[in-house]
Amino acid sequence: MHKVTIVGAGIAGLTAALRLLERGYHVTLYEQDNFIGGMLRSHKEHDHGDYPREHSYHMLCNWYYNFWSVAEDLGIEDNFTPREAFKFLYDGDLDNMPEMVNPGGIQDFYRNLTGGAAPPAELFLFMYSMVDLLSIPDSEDDKLDRMSFNGWLRGRPYCTDEVAQLHEKIWQTVWAIDSWQASARSYKTFLKYGNRVPVPQLWLFAGSKKDTLIDPFHAKLKQFGDRFELKYRHRLREVHPSEDGTRIERLVFDKVTKSPSVNPDWKVAKKDIVDDVSDENVIISITPGGMASMVTDDLYNADPALGQLRYLEAEPMASVELYLKRKLPGIPTEVVVFMDTPYEMTFLNYSATWGLKNTFLYVTVSDFKSLLSVKPERRDENQNLILDLKNPKTAIDYILREITAKLEITEADIDLFQTSVDTNTGEELFANLTGSWEHRPEVNTKFENLFLAGTYVRNFADVSTVEGACATGLIAAEGVRQAAQREPDKGDAGKPVEVITPDFYPSQMFQTLKIAWAPYAASAKAWTLADKALGINKLWPPKDFKFPKSKFTPNPENLGSLFTDWLPASKWNEKTLGLGPMFWNYTEDGKPRKK
Ligand SMILES: Cc1cc2nc3c(=O)[nH]c(=O)nc-3n(C[C@H](O)[C@H](O)[C@H](O)COP(=O)(O)OP(=O)(O)OC[C@H]3O[C@@H](n4cnc5c(N)ncnc54)[C@H](O)[C@@H]3O)c2cc1C
Repeated sequence: MHKVTIVGAGIAGLTAALRLLERGYHVTLYEQDNFIGGMLRSHKEHDHGDYPREHSYHMLCNWYYNFWSVAEDLGIEDNFTPREAFKFLYDGDLDNMPEMVNPGGIQDFYRNLTGGAAPPAELFLFMYSMVDLLSIPDSEDDKLDRMSFNGWLRGRPYCTDEVAQLHEKIWQTVWAIDSWQASARSYKTFLKYGNRVPVPQLWLFAGSKKDTLIDPFHAKLKQFGDRFELKYRHRLREVHPSEDGTRIERLVFDKVTKSPSVNPDWKVAKKDIVDDVSDENVIISITPGGMASMVTDDLYNADPALGQLRYLEAEPMASVELYLKRKLPGIPTEVVVFMDTPYEMTFLNYSATWGLKNTFLYVTVSDFKSLLSVKPERRDENQNLILDLKNPKTAIDYILREITAKLEITEADIDLFQTSVDTNTGEELFANLTGSWEHRPEVNTKFENLFLAGTYVRNFADVSTVEGACATGLIAAEGVRQAAQREPDKGDAGKPVEVITPDFYPSQMFQTLKIAWAPYAASAKAWTLADKALGINKLWPPKDFKFPKSKFTPNPENLGSLFTDWLPASKWNEKTLGLGPMFWNYTEDGKPRKK
């Protein structure tokens, strides 16, 4: 039987394990924590109540075809709920939140122009900048990777400061880096897939990830019986190649006392657990920093490309699980972006997706670096938080001080036992920095039996996403299968592992749109200049302007619905022109389509 050792039970490692088990392999999966899931974890290894702890809320796009395919195989395809809009919270005014609805699509174009996130002329230029970026052919990608997105944008004649700041906000809140650090190539790749299937713009887990993803995944893997072995609390420390440098021979693990991802005070319980893998294939799917630290002389000399891992960087993104003792009225179910607080914070109403009576807000803190200087939190002997919002001392004090100033929450409303902060130190998100593509490793290494997986490894999705991680798990599984084909005496290697690359509209289409819209872009720029000459935002918004509310059905009042409400025409479009998903992405019963 073909044997595989996989290190790291994040979504990349789990996906590889699933596909190889399905093909009859024996899989040993090592994980440093006492639970699986990695950044998608949802675990109960804590002393603060009955609910699982997570590592941020996650937004999943339509074009995550590889993830959706795994979800289908696990039978969890109904465990997701769509969201069409992002909301922007200014000054704590929950009733009048500007919004951005399915920003990649044409059908909400008009609605977004008047959505209030910025004056319409600026919003037009914001969308025009995306069309402009998408009009650049893929053959220019290497060049684009050497430009920061902000640098590229600021060089465009139509760019305004507000447009640049809107993009800046997206980068800071979603990927935890500034747009002047971010690769223009990575942004383009993300937009081009999203633009092909823009409605609904994202899906959320319809419950805790433990119930909706982690437990079903684990149950599925266990169905393979003796062929699947999961070794918790095994932390990989060393990787040893053979003397001739062609294969990996030994992996050395430490058994740890507690899950390192969530317990900074973990210790080594047992040292030097050696696994001889000379006769197996190995997939390592851990974080890039962890992998880089394992590259010693022997590994580097055999495969110098592994030395490039040291150029890759990651950013801390903390989260606060804010449990209240009551229901806070008016909290929407969409992702909300705090527009006027420090630390680049967003939140999701978890009580809505988890079905809780009292409000539970999951707050992601994307700009957390400065707060690493203070203790995360303090607790008394009963494990209740000790807060001091007037004279903040800990990270959670600083964060909650900002949140309570914006939302109608007092200290007395906070459930001090369940509320907590997770600094996610050591679990940082891989950053798509300018020029990083060149340093990212391929799945295949120079070692015949070593494959790398994880969101930082080169893949079509480029940007750090669940889909990118999933895709590398699949590519690694296919690498293992091809290696197994060279050893037919051990049995059938199985059928090829499918990796789905999403469709996208050709750059020529955006070039045409860019030319057609150029006069409007010039007018919009002139408008913004006039607006500024008169004093910021004199022309927009008018005093009595009411921000439109988000809806889950196409809005009959907007211009885009001229296309979207005409179902037969949309179907014709889809069949004959292949333009369907751009205009219409609902099934006939009105539900948003996933693919
Ligand atoms: C705050 C935050 C928000 C995010 N939001 C989104 C989102 O909305 N949408 C989206 O698509 N993506 C999002 N992402 C990105 C996405 O979660 C990741 O890209 C993806 O989950 C990474 O999966 P992975 O398998 O590559 O790595 P990981 O999930 O990091 O898995 C690596 C595994 O290896 C284990 N490990 C590490 N070192 C060792 C060792 N030495 N020995 C043994 N085991 C080890 C870890 O414990 C972990 O289980 C977000 C990420 C973060 C941090």
